Amino acid sequence: MVGLLIQWFVQVIHSLYFNKLRLISESARSEGGRLWVPRAREDKRLSTDIPDKERWYFLEEKYPKYGNLVPSDIATREIFQVCLDGYGIDGKMQVYLDLTHKSTAELNSRLKGTLDIYKNFMREDPHKVPMRVFPGMHYTMGGLWVDINQKTSLDGIYAAGECDFSIHGANRLGANSLVSCVYGGIVSGISAFNYVKGLEKTLDISEPIFEIKRSQEEEFNNSLSKQTGVENAQLLHQEMGRYMTENVTVIRGNKQLQDTDNKLQELQERFNQIDLNESNFWASQSLPHARSLRNMLELARVITLCALARNESRGAHYKPEFPERDDENWLKTTIATYTLNGPEVSYQETDTSLVTPKPRKYN
Ligand SMILES: Cc1cc2nc3c(=O)[nH]c(=O)nc-3n(C[C@H](O)[C@H](O)[C@H](O)COP(=O)(O)OP(=O)(O)OC[C@H]3O[C@@H](n4cnc5c(N)ncnc54)[C@H](O)[C@@H]3O)c2cc1C
Repeated sequence: MVGLLIQWFVQVIHSLYFNKLRLISESARSEGGRLWVPRAREDKRLSTDIPDKERWYFLEEKYPKYGNLVPSDIATREIFQVCLDGYGIDGKMQVYLDLTHKSTAELNSRLKGTLDIYKNFMREDPHKVPMRVFPGMHYTMGGLWVDINQKTSLDGIYAAGECDFSIHGANRLGANSLVSCVYGGIVSGISAFNYVKGLEKTLDISEPIFEIKRSQEEEFNNSLSKQTGVENAQLLHQEMGRYMTENVTVIRGNKQLQDTDNKLQELQERFNQIDLNESNFWASQSLPHARSLRNMLELARVITLCALARNESRGAHYKPEFPERDDENWLKTTIATYTLNGPEVSYQETDTSLVTPKPRKYN
């Protein structure tokens, strides 16, 4: 495992279709989409039967200046809160994204493709009926530490794209993944080429280092595939996902973060009791899945422990006990280093010499 990882701030988008895990483009909001829930909890009426005065346009009320145009992380957090307070449609984690007040001509000229896809998957016409959306995973801002040439902390290994930490700070701006993919891709390609060209000699492929690593991994595969026990890897994966989604995404309380880390350590213990219950590993995904799960548990601890340590709110990291950004103490990058005893956390100063940070304010 590469040694250095940077804190994984996690971005959650507000607008996936309910139950379909597909994204409604942010442009639906920028084209005038209004987010709302019924004013009365557990209102069972159809959206179209609820009159305007009985609808709670929560972003418009809470942020009169920006309304539905607040940035994605604020919209997501408000949806989360509204749903946690019991106002979600049908008591679930979902709200309406309403474009029915726009003319068909306008919607067709600006959002036709997006709305057609919604209609095909949901069998509801967003021209006539408000769409139902909910927050879901969107992006991880952190990743492998890289230097200016996209080199990781291991010589000869380069990283680019969503897997490196370098571009987005605590909150990626909309549509900016392209920067990390395109820029990082170009730089890492050239850097890797120059690295190889500059080597006095390449590694002799017969060096034992490869064989040692291969036999270690084969040994691990063998023992995992023969292991017997009472645990199911898919269920452990689900349990990890539930804890991480509930406690380490949009709202991050210290108690919940500590509980999550305790749970993750418990899951790591239980991993040793996994029974893959498989006779034909050639045609099955169970072994690669279990191997990935082991790494996911390690990374989940990185995300959780870094969030626990950071007692402030910044970008996509929102901690209710510490709702303000605290540049004096926390304008720094978190680094997690892999050790056999779990992630070790340290910090690196952030260079703000070119742009002085200012607080984000939307009210
Ligand atoms: C729903 C959604 C909507 C988005 N919308 C936008 C948008 O509008 N604008 C925008 O800029 N960004 C958007 N993003 C983010 C953007 O799509 C991603 O950040 C970007 O595609 C990441 O590209 P990548 O090449 O770095 O990584 P990926 O596309 O994740 O590629 C990584 C590849 O590595 C492979 N892989 C993983 N593990 C292994 C392994 N062990 N061995 C071999 N291969 C492996 C994976 O299968 C995958 O093909 C969106 C993301 C989501 C989830």
